[in-house]
Amino acid sequence: MKIAIVGAGIIGVTTAWELAADGHEVSVFERRGAAAEESSFANAGVVAPGYVTPWAAPGMRGKVLRSLLSKHGAIKVRWPLAARDIGFMARWQKACKLETYLANRTRMQRLAFYSRQRLHEIVEAREMVYERSDGYLVLLRSKREQKLVQPGLDVLRAAGTVFREINADEARLVEPALSADTSLACAIHLPEDEVGNCRQFALLLKWEAEALGAQFHFNCDLAPLTRAAPTSLQLAGGSDAVRYDAVVMCAGLDSAKLLRPLGLRIPLAPVHGHSVSANIREPLNAPRSAVMDERFKVAITRLGLRVRVAGSAEIGGAPDQLNPAALQTLYKVLHDWFPGAATLQSGVQQWKGARPMLPDGPPVLGASGIPGVWLNLGHGSSGWALSCGSARVLADLIGARDPGVDLEGLGVERLTLGH
Ligand SMILES: Cc1cc2nc3c(=O)[nH]c(=O)nc-3n(C[C@H](O)[C@H](O)[C@H](O)COP(=O)(O)OP(=O)(O)OC[C@H]3O[C@@H](n4cnc5c(N)ncnc54)[C@H](O)[C@@H]3O)c2cc1C
Repeated sequence: MKIAIVGAGIIGVTTAWELAADGHEVSVFERRGAAAEESSFANAGVVAPGYVTPWAAPGMRGKVLRSLLSKHGAIKVRWPLAARDIGFMARWQKACKLETYLANRTRMQRLAFYSRQRLHEIVEAREMVYERSDGYLVLLRSKREQKLVQPGLDVLRAAGTVFREINADEARLVEPALSADTSLACAIHLPEDEVGNCRQFALLLKWEAEALGAQFHFNCDLAPLTRAAPTSLQLAGGSDAVRYDAVVMCAGLDSAKLLRPLGLRIPLAPVHGHSVSANIREPLNAPRSAVMDERFKVAITRLGLRVRVAGSAEIGGAPDQLNPAALQTLYKVLHDWFPGAATLQSGVQQWKGARPMLPDGPPVLGASGIPGVWLNLGHGSSGWALSCGSARVLADLIGARDPGVDLEGLGVERLTLGH
């Protein structure tokens, strides 16, 4: 089949590779000059399937309100708020019901475990080097936090996730550079989880896809799809329409706008986050792999010769304006746990990115309801962890094969049928 993919973020690139590997004639269109320049550019890089959960969770409203009042709060609502953001928050609130949350968490984790397995298959067969390391350590600063995470640990147990609850001394054996000056009640160690450079992986897999015949067209800003010819693509600035047998929408946040003329209303909203990447000054003072500060919801990860600190969740606000308060929190948490690990005087990359978030949590995978138009979008805070599995699922569905994972609740109908 002649298949077009819109968007070359981590979702578009993995989808291109799977479809090219299946023997399709694949063309990818990306408005930027390279792959993974938007949400997939500088994320935390964590692949921890047991921690892939919806942000729409019971008690979330209280958490948001408390966060608004706290200087280093993890979730913020910022001015200006678009109508889209207000609609998103209303639907988000609805999805916070316990029953809905539990069902969505199961769906997301199922896909996340499948995705990690697919990631390993891809990497092992090709020996790709993308600054990866093994292990994820969740740091709990107080006994109160230790108590609060217990229901979450029951879920990990039920899902068969390999983890250990360890004390502060044991945590310092896993991550010897953890500062002794910051109080640590205990930690959760997940040895099978990992961290890797999502952008680097995307660039490597793009080459692999090209080797299989996929063509990438950069600096191509596509116009929204049309009702009259939904599988014909045109540039936003005007060009002849080119028809494909199938189009896969992987345009992250912009997918909603591109699909709207087809009558599909996808309630995607940007939830902005920040990251800081800096060169390691002294490897002995740096993390070996990935840690997550549960109180501040900030991840600190080792990516080759750099350390990356990522966090903050902002609804609303200006997409391209860094928020100094959010960055300050990242520097504070880095200093709390790994003082002296990084050179912060020069060569620091500060980034703001948008998580393409759906209000209930899971992404949308599969047929759109319009013949020839397929969807792989809305991966929110876990797009890297879900990418390889989502791409394989899409390729199986297009090839009319049974996907290797249960897709219940991942289709677009859940958003359009007023659920
Ligand atoms: C601070 C932060 C930390 C994160 N940490 C993690 C983590 O640790 N683990 C994890 O799994 N996930 C994490 N994420 C989430 C993850 O980064 C995203 O879910 C993922 O990058 C989404 O990928 P995507 O391909 O859907 O979107 P993008 O990477 O945004 O790709 C979409 C592409 O479509 C292109 N496009 C849009 N419109 C058009 C058009 N009209 N024509 C042509 N091209 C178009 C865009 O230019 C873009 O390149 C984090 C996100 C943030 C912000």
